Amino acid sequence: MPEVAETVLEIDLGALRANYEYLRSTLRPETRFMAVVKAFAYGHDATKIAPYLEQLGVDYFAVAYTSEGIELREAGIKTPILVLHPQSVHFNRLVDYSLEPCIYSDYVMTGFLETAKARKLSDYPVHLKFNTGLNRLGFDEGDAEKVFAAISRNPSLKVASVFSHLAASEDPDEVSFTRSQIDAFLRIAAVFEDIEGYRPLLHQCNTSGILCYPEAQFDMVRSGIGLYGYGNDSEKGKHLCPVGTLKTVISQIHLLKKGDSLSYNRAFVAEKPTRTATLPLGHADGIGRQYGNGRGYVRINGKYAPIIGNVCMDMLMVDITHIDCREGDEVVVYGKNPTAAEFAATAGTISYELITGISRRVKRVYIR
Ligand SMILES: *Cc1c(COP(=O)(O)O)cnc(C)c1O
Repeated sequence: MPEVAETVLEIDLGALRANYEYLRSTLRPETRFMAVVKAFAYGHDATKIAPYLEQLGVDYFAVAYTSEGIELREAGIKTPILVLHPQSVHFNRLVDYSLEPCIYSDYVMTGFLETAKARKLSDYPVHLKFNTGLNRLGFDEGDAEKVFAAISRNPSLKVASVFSHLAASEDPDEVSFTRSQIDAFLRIAAVFEDIEGYRPLLHQCNTSGILCYPEAQFDMVRSGIGLYGYGNDSEKGKHLCPVGTLKTVISQIHLLKKGDSLSYNRAFVAEKPTRTATLPLGHADGIGRQYGNGRGYVRINGKYAPIIGNVCMDMLMVDITHIDCREGDEVVVYGKNPTAAEFAATAGTISYELITGISRRVKRVYIR
């Protein structure tokens, strides 16, 4: 009997540790490290990943939403947690669980000040986000003076950090744009120092920022994808090791005659006798319909098998005509070979989308 006769996402905590240590080694020793564990820790389950990273000594966690921060607290996490995109309806819960909001607009600031007043908070840590070119979330540079003055007048809040986010830190064609973002951030920090008389904790780099712009590491960096083993094609990213391996097994093998069709809508028609394997993995598990019909491949006994026909909800089929394999054999969908980045590229997407999309139905198995 094969050891794991079902679809699993195998998660290598040793690789997670090695990635953390590698990323740390590229930074000044005093630079703090914020581990980004939003989106179920990029599919790896934050309630398992964060306690391990906490033991390794990360300084901060970041999540996207309040509910994700609450899950971490309920898993016993004591480290400070930044909520990158809090919604004002959850501010009371955010305070209940000692989560720290990102404040990125007047609307969010007003909403949080109301909560702070009602809860009689004092010196509650908040993180001020500035837009330096991504045009997604953040105050504009021109509002810096006004925002900092408003905060310093208000005893209920204290500025835990000032930060911004890079738009194209992985893109060698956008170096001058990225430098303009770093320059804008430096000007914002200078305004803060003028008004408040001290330098706040500053951070701007995501993983690709760490790898490509170490001079912009400031006081802290925020890494997500790098921890999970992907470096967005940067040269230094080659030192990272994929943490998750999506594995499955062959459920059934069929022999198609020339002219036989396979899967829904008969999208695949055999041009010659073809041996196919059906795998227990489909779009409900996170392998969407953008794969299939030749896009995407898996590895069986060291050989590649292309995904043929349309991906179904719970299954997909691969061509194994050229592979010596049997029902019950192990199949690697992505991991070290192919990597999630390579698998995703076959359908024109990126590692982030693929790994965050693996649904909770897929069992997570942790190894060291
Ligand atoms: C998601 C996110 C990150 C992490 O980015 P990676 O490319 O995964 O390292 C950092 N900062 C912000 C604001 C984010 O939203």
